[in-house]
Amino acid sequence: MPDFNEVKSIVKGDVLFDVPMKEYTSMQVGGLCACMVTPRDEDDIFKFIDWAKRNEQRYFVIGSGTNLIVRDGGIKNPVLRMKGTFDSVEVVSEDESVLRIRAGAGKPLAELVKYCEENGLSGMEPLAGIPGTTGGAIVMNAGTGHGTLSDIVETVTFIERTGKTRTLNKKAMGFGYRTCKELSSSSIVVSAVFNLRKSDKAAVSKKIAAVLKEKTQSQPLNYPSSGSIFKNPSRIKAWKLLDEAGMRGVRVRGAKYSELHTNFIVNTGNARAEDVLTLIDAGIEKVKEKTKVKLELEVVIIGEQ
Ligand SMILES: Cc1cc2nc3c(=O)[nH]c(=O)nc-3n(C[C@H](O)[C@H](O)[C@H](O)COP(=O)(O)OP(=O)(O)OC[C@H]3O[C@@H](n4cnc5c(N)ncnc54)[C@H](O)[C@@H]3O)c2cc1C
Repeated sequence: MPDFNEVKSIVKGDVLFDVPMKEYTSMQVGGLCACMVTPRDEDDIFKFIDWAKRNEQRYFVIGSGTNLIVRDGGIKNPVLRMKGTFDSVEVVSEDESVLRIRAGAGKPLAELVKYCEENGLSGMEPLAGIPGTTGGAIVMNAGTGHGTLSDIVETVTFIERTGKTRTLNKKAMGFGYRTCKELSSSSIVVSAVFNLRKSDKAAVSKKIAAVLKEKTQSQPLNYPSSGSIFKNPSRIKAWKLLDEAGMRGVRVRGAKYSELHTNFIVNTGNARAEDVLTLIDAGIEKVKEKTKVKLELEVVIIGEQ
C-alpha cells in the first residue's frame, strides 16, 4: 500500500482519504476512494504524477462525476479531482466576429454557457443543461442533437502520465461520438481554447432556453442519475431499443430504468452501484436478445467489485 500521506506533504491542494464516492458522483452510488487529490495548480499535478510514477500507482482523473459510476468496493488507486480548481476563463483574442476564450478544465460547463449567454457569444448553446466540468465535457465530447463540444474547440491542453504537457488542435485530438481518441485514461486535461461567434444576446438566450426546455421535458432531472447510460447505435436511439426490450420502469432495489427516458437509470433512493450495474447488464442482454444489437456504454464505470 503506497503512503498517501506523502502526497499530502508534497501538494498544495486538498488531499482527502477514504472519501465516499456517492458524494462525488451524480448517480450517488459507490464505495470509498482511498485518496482524492484536488490539485491547486499545474505544479501540484506534476508533483502528483511524479509521486504516482515513483510508487507505480495508476490514477484516475475525475471532474464532477456526472458520467461516472463507481463500484461499491470503492477505488484503491488515487483519484485526481479537477472540479473546484482550474476554473479560470480568459479572453485569448477578439476580432469583429469571433471571440476566443481559454477555459480551465475545472470550470463548470453550465458557467461557461452562462458566460456565453451574458456576453452574447454563440456556439455553446447545444451544451446548455449538461452538468459537469469543461474537462469532462472534452473527454466525453459532450453534446446534444444540436451539436457537440468539439464543434467549438480549437485546441486542448493536457498533461500526460510522463509529465509532458501537450497542446493539440481539434483535428489531432480525434473527437468522435462521446469520445476523444488522443486522450488516455491517465491524460489530465487542464484547459481548452474555444472559438465563439459574436452574436445577439437575446438570440443566444432564446436558443439556450429552447435546448433547456427540451432537456427538462425529456430527461428525469428530479432524480440522481449519470445521464444516458448507453451510446446511441447508428440510426437508432438506445432508449428506443431499451424500451422495446421491456426495460422501461424495470427496477432493482433503489435503481430503476426511468419511465421518462429509458436510457437513464435513476437512483430512487439508497441504490447501490451493484443495483445499477445489474440493470445495465440486464439492459444489454435484453436488447441483444431482441434485436441482436450490442449496446455500448456511454457512462464510465470504475472501482473495485
Ligand atoms: C442529468 C444529466 C444529464 C446529462 N446530459 C448529457 C447530455 O445531454 N449530453 C452529454 O454528452 N452528456 C450528458 N450527461 C453526462 C455528463 O454530464 C457529461 O458526460 C459531462 O461532460 C461529464 O463531465 P464531468 O466533469 O462530470 O466528468 P466525469 O463524470 O467526472 O468524468 C467523465 C470522464 O471524463 C474523464 N475526465 C473528467 N475530467 C477530466 C480531466 N480534467 N482530464 C482528464 N479526464 C477527465 C474521467 O476520467 C471520465 O472518463 C448528463 C449527465 C447527467 C447526470
